[in-house]
Amino acid sequence: MPISVKSEKEIQLMRESGKILAAVLKELEDEICEGISTYDIDKKCYELIKKNGCTPSFLNYNGFPASICVSVNDQVVHGIPNKKKILKNGDIVSLDCGVIYQGYHSDAARTLAVGEISDEAKRLIDVTRQSFFEGIKYAREGYHLYEISAAIQNYVEANGYSVVRDLVGHGIGRVLHEEPQIPNFAQKRRGPALKAGMTLAIEPMVNQGRFEVYWEDDNWTVITADGSLSAHYENTVLITNGEPELLTIY
Ligand code: MG
Ligand code: MG
Repeated sequence: MPISVKSEKEIQLMRESGKILAAVLKELEDEICEGISTYDIDKKCYELIKKNGCTPSFLNYNGFPASICVSVNDQVVHGIPNKKKILKNGDIVSLDCGVIYQGYHSDAARTLAVGEISDEAKRLIDVTRQSFFEGIKYAREGYHLYEISAAIQNYVEANGYSVVRDLVGHGIGRVLHEEPQIPNFAQKRRGPALKAGMTLAIEPMVNQGRFEVYWEDDNWTVITADGSLSAHYENTVLITNGEPELLTIY
């Protein structure tokens, strides 16, 4: 499958989709506090998505049972919301959500602090976020896809952390996961040339310790193999001739 290049009309719909998702995530961020269950976050998320006339991208995707992935501490991604999982002061929590607006998906993730977190946890969140911005310096026509990948890895490793290998970013549009796969680590090739109109979900997943991950018995939740903390940062990005457009920034 070639990488899809969106028409101006499609780009407008993706902008709208991204704008709604950014607003949903912002509202959820404000709800994050000690004592809330990850189930309550999902319930609120579903209501917000519906209120905005959208459909949750993740609900029933390959059987995923919720509208948002909520991953705490050593959970990397794909945490399933649960009434028994209560956020505590000092936790870090990753929210990963997608919405469909008039047939077009957007996808974004943030890692947030619950109450007061350690300086080391703060640094992990900051480096993960910044690695995305290092990567998108190459997210424009004229560069190649894996230049983004290498820039993310270089920045993360220069800061003493590691990037997850088993999960990657992706193209996005009418389908949640389109071509191409977007690794957060260098490849032996430069990869496909980037073209204006491509829409990419770029999403570094960064571990405090080693890069290896395991899947829990629910077959969804991904955790760090060494029990170290993990953070996630993702936006849906439109490639242009100049600066990339971040469709899911509030
Ligand atoms: Mg996501
Ligand atoms: Mg994604």
